[in-house]
Amino acid sequence: MDSRRDFLQKITGSVIALNLPRYSNAKDIFNNSYNGPVLRVAIMGLGSYATRVADAMQTCTKAKLVGVISGTPSKITAWQSKYNIPAGNCYNYSNFGNIKNNPDIDAVYVITPNGLHREHVMGVAKAGKHAICEKPMAVNAKEGQDMIDACKAANVKLLVGYRMHFEPKTLEIIRMRKSGELGKVLFFQGLSGFVIGDPTQWRLNKKLSGGGSMMDIGIYSINGSRYMIGEEPVWVTAQETKNNHEKFKEGIDETIQFQLGFPGGAVASCLSTYSMNNLDRFFVNAENGFAELMPATGYGPIEGRTNNGELNYPHVTHQTVQMDEMAGIILQGNKPIVPVDGEEALKDLKIIDAIFLAAKTGKKIDLK
Ligand code: NAD
Repeated sequence: MDSRRDFLQKITGSVIALNLPRYSNAKDIFNNSYNGPVLRVAIMGLGSYATRVADAMQTCTKAKLVGVISGTPSKITAWQSKYNIPAGNCYNYSNFGNIKNNPDIDAVYVITPNGLHREHVMGVAKAGKHAICEKPMAVNAKEGQDMIDACKAANVKLLVGYRMHFEPKTLEIIRMRKSGELGKVLFFQGLSGFVIGDPTQWRLNKKLSGGGSMMDIGIYSINGSRYMIGEEPVWVTAQETKNNHEKFKEGIDETIQFQLGFPGGAVASCLSTYSMNNLDRFFVNAENGFAELMPATGYGPIEGRTNNGELNYPHVTHQTVQMDEMAGIILQGNKPIVPVDGEEALKDLKIIDAIFLAAKTGKKIDLK
């Protein structure tokens, strides 16, 4: 049995048997005989996360890796042979505008450093292709808005790589909140962090990263607080701690604690850091009990429990499900349970802008 069928069989039994609306196009994804439209994707930026996505896409049903965009010829050659990519679908950063004339590519997945997302997504839109962009969508809300406007003007879709929006245990807690089982959610704790290594990497370069841990990992707690509480925050407070000024230069946050206030009275208390390892926990407290994910946002398996016991849903390869789901969104107009479009990502960027301002000024920032 090939690995794709193996994957589908593993998932089919467990997810479909639970009869839960986990995915907007579950029937298609888990149907071995799927013969509907397939999203043909080129990946831009062949780094470490791109490799993870490319590997995961090998077991996709509705999405297929067909092209690459890279500034490094040797990487292109390696990807061509590893993923069977035709020479006509290979581009570099100077000529990728020509993708416009390539009918074999539907979408470009931008997986380059954060500070380049705006320029790259706008180039994709100009070439008339759908854009999928890694998180954070941009380095601030203004850039994010530019990207949304450009994709709208070009009549192409803009989606952002929020893979947790398709993760079964995450979706189960959202279902419990929506159904009223949890009661009103009043408190969310999000802890997001790891110890960052090489001080010369782009993640510690303000121009390429847009910030430190907040842009990279703290964004998971922001986004998580919004889908777990089910509201948009109305105020932000934040405090920054920096112990290593050599490694974490001006504009690169090492550790930020922040609090978000929600209109229904819920509060989120979160920590984002580049100086503590294995920090990956969501805790949701509601009138009727609690839900916890730990780890909450790593590549999995995600572990979860509520006051009623363990959450027993199968591990899925996040990027495989994400790309199949995104194909359904782009090609069939499917609606995901939690949005993954540019507008959704813009909400996180506005909150990040406010967190940086709150940390700098010591003031409570109104988000209304
Ligand atoms: P990486 O350094 O491994 O890869 C970045 C790629 O961009 C490299 O191939 C590099 O050659 C290329 N690049 C193009 N222009 C560049 C430039 N001017 N400077 C530096 N590199 C340039 O980084 P990564 O970990 O793959 O992260 C890429 C993006 O993916 C980031 O936006 C990051 O936030 C995101 N990411 C998302 C997840 C997730 O779980 N969704 C996980 C990791 C990274």
